[in-house]
Amino acid sequence: MMVHNGNLINFKELKLKLKKHSVNLSSNCDLEPILYLFCLEMMKIREEGHTIFDAVIALKETYKYIKGAYSISTAMILDGKPTLICARDPYGIRPAVWGEKNGEFMCASESVCLDAVDFELKGEIASGEAVFFRVGENPQTHLIEKRGKAPCVFENIYFARPDSVYNERSIYMTRMELGRTLGEELIAKKVDVDVIVPVPDTSVPAALEISRVMGKPFSEGLIKNRYSARTFIMPTQSSRENALRLKLNPIKAQTKDKKVLLVDDSIVRGTTLKRMVRLLRDKGKASEIHVAIHCPPVLNPCFYGIDMSVQEDLIAHRKSVKIGLAGKKVLNLEEQRQLEKSVAEHLGADSVTYLSMEGTNKVFGNERCAACFDGNYMVEVDKQAIDEIRNDRMSISCSFNSINN
Ligand code: SF4
Repeated sequence: MMVHNGNLINFKELKLKLKKHSVNLSSNCDLEPILYLFCLEMMKIREEGHTIFDAVIALKETYKYIKGAYSISTAMILDGKPTLICARDPYGIRPAVWGEKNGEFMCASESVCLDAVDFELKGEIASGEAVFFRVGENPQTHLIEKRGKAPCVFENIYFARPDSVYNERSIYMTRMELGRTLGEELIAKKVDVDVIVPVPDTSVPAALEISRVMGKPFSEGLIKNRYSARTFIMPTQSSRENALRLKLNPIKAQTKDKKVLLVDDSIVRGTTLKRMVRLLRDKGKASEIHVAIHCPPVLNPCFYGIDMSVQEDLIAHRKSVKIGLAGKKVLNLEEQRQLEKSVAEHLGADSVTYLSMEGTNKVFGNERCAACFDGNYMVEVDKQAIDEIRNDRMSISCSFNSINN
């Protein structure tokens, strides 16, 4: 048994490698080759009676072949005792935490999972490390392969729940910091608004801080229908759009004849936000709509486990090509301002302001993965892998870690 969170960029290569060992994969799940490679390495050492030491060696061998971002967890009998193993990729791109309750252990991607069953958060699995847990014993940490530290910034911006702790920081506080930084940039850009309205729920902490920094009132101008389904797990664009219509409704009394600053966490395709701008204008009767995004433009696709569409679908990429910035993996502030005008036109908004790359670095520092914003991929992805992942995405319209905004 093995579970994981992440994505391998060399699945096809591993599939062929395993075939040579007469192992035919039965799925397209990239955990399957990890499981088989690990088992093959374990069996090379001995056929039965495995130890923690064997598992460390087998993991080190497995890490030589698997490329990408992954947090893995598995349970097996080692040294004759039931043992839970949790391991993180050499850059620690995908999250993994562990907790304890009465001498028992649990690991998960998000700390809120521990909270839900009353386990106490004890720490994170560090980049490239594996931790072995046994009831009533102290956890054993072993270094498998470490190349750096690059936790995904998008977990902070969009994915993780606000009550989670990631990379030893509260997600809620991080989102407030993003809002504070963006608020200062909005003032410097002289964006003039009457009211700050978040797109519920992710952007609420950032919008609260923008409101405080700009000295403008915060308003829940868009109300989420708590009975509607989650749009991101819906299979088609039309079903997502229909669900969105039922999902959000403006409070006209809060937005009528006002210059609204609509705050959202990110823009990927731009389809959802475009509808929201129209909703605020038509039903909310806002006089102006300015959009503020608490991350930089998403110019590059993610190959590390967040399914955020193919590059051609990314609105920032499409518009950057249109205004003559094709091939740019990251924009300077002047280029970003040009892009903002083009995206605003597309959304039907009066202006768009993204958080700058400089502001993002101020919040997250340099030890992070921000490849979707700056094109700096920690684990190199070659052309063949890019094409394979692209084809997979085009054939699957949704997945667990997908973003459809
Ligand atoms: S590319 Fe973006 S979404 Fe993917 S792991 Fe890096 S920061 Fe996260």
